[in-house]
Amino acid sequence: MRRLSDIEVQDKRVLVRVDFNVPLSDGRVTDDSRIRAALPTIEELRRRGARVILLSHLGRPRDREPELSLRPVADRLGELTGARVTLAPGVVGDDVRALTEELEPGDVLVLENLRFEPGETANDEDFARALAALGDVYVDDAFGAVHRAHASTVGVAALLPSAEGLLLERELSTLRGLLEDPERPLVALLGGAKVTDKIGVVLRFLDVADVVMIGGSMCFPFLAAQGHAVGASRCDPDDVEPARQALEYASSQGRRLELPEDLVIARALDAHAPHRELAGVEVPDGWMGLDIGPRTAERFRDEILAAGTVFWNGPMGVFELEPFAAGTRAVAEAVAAAPGTTVVGGGDSVAALVELGLQDSVSHVSTGGGASLELLEGKRLPGLEALT
Ligand code: AMP
Repeated sequence: MRRLSDIEVQDKRVLVRVDFNVPLSDGRVTDDSRIRAALPTIEELRRRGARVILLSHLGRPRDREPELSLRPVADRLGELTGARVTLAPGVVGDDVRALTEELEPGDVLVLENLRFEPGETANDEDFARALAALGDVYVDDAFGAVHRAHASTVGVAALLPSAEGLLLERELSTLRGLLEDPERPLVALLGGAKVTDKIGVVLRFLDVADVVMIGGSMCFPFLAAQGHAVGASRCDPDDVEPARQALEYASSQGRRLELPEDLVIARALDAHAPHRELAGVEVPDGWMGLDIGPRTAERFRDEILAAGTVFWNGPMGVFELEPFAAGTRAVAEAVAAAPGTTVVGGGDSVAALVELGLQDSVSHVSTGGGASLELLEGKRLPGLEALT
């Protein structure tokens, strides 16, 4: 894979795929971390005299939805860089092309939301060609999108000389380093709800980590597989068999797979529903487990603090509701305080860190939740293959 420093960019129109899929409220960017994460690449290109053309998707528009315009992102980028940042009126076409030709070295043009064009997710050849016609070189810096075979990740890369951006490079080296050469003990902490997405990662970590700890609603298929009652907890019957296999694999290989020993349970998924701590994991009928209990949180915390390396993905409970947030808060604080290398992978675990103001206290916050899991699992990532 070519690096940014390997390509000639002076005076060139450089198409950069970034991940500006940021949260918006009332037409303003409410969390600009993804924009900031792309700044090193953008700034280096500007310094080297490139004409920078940025490509990103935002949300899942069905059509040209004005609320999902990249306007607020372009405005924020202008504030952060002090560069001349223009927003194109569309994604491709003659008007947009004319704007790319007017760019001076160091200028930045943001194309409109890629998903305004159906050809993006379909990886349509004509659309990829129309995108490629806007630039001379292509740089992929959108780690959060490398697991998708779209026109802006795969199609364009096949048509132009391509390289990885600085953010993509950092994400890859950090995550690969975790599997290949971690400081021991390596502790993997997995939570959240999407068991199907994460079971492959559990298996992978059972091979490389010293301990794998599971919280969130992910723990219920595992507890069910051990014969515990899960009551009304979120537990897809289809997930129980893969969980049973993972447990069996762990015991046959002598690996540590740690599950909760106590829970916070409630009558309903509601902050005002009756709730209580449960000393144990037999969830009574009519109750659901919505957080790990205090003893579990303490045990997980001790493992995290003693780790040489920690990887954390997924909340320990329904942290969006205060009565069920303590477990996630406890592990987030432990990850932030841990002396070892700490890597937090995407999505809700990052949201929990940000809410606690702890995002700067970890070694690496991944900008790609789904992508980081697929990379760790060893899946092929179309966006990376297209760059090599
Ligand atoms: P994921 O996208 O897989 O990381 O899942 C994150 C979501 O899992 C969050 O919205 C949490 O509210 C939810 N979650 C975590 N623990 C539980 C639980 N015990 N029951 C239901 N949902 C949960």
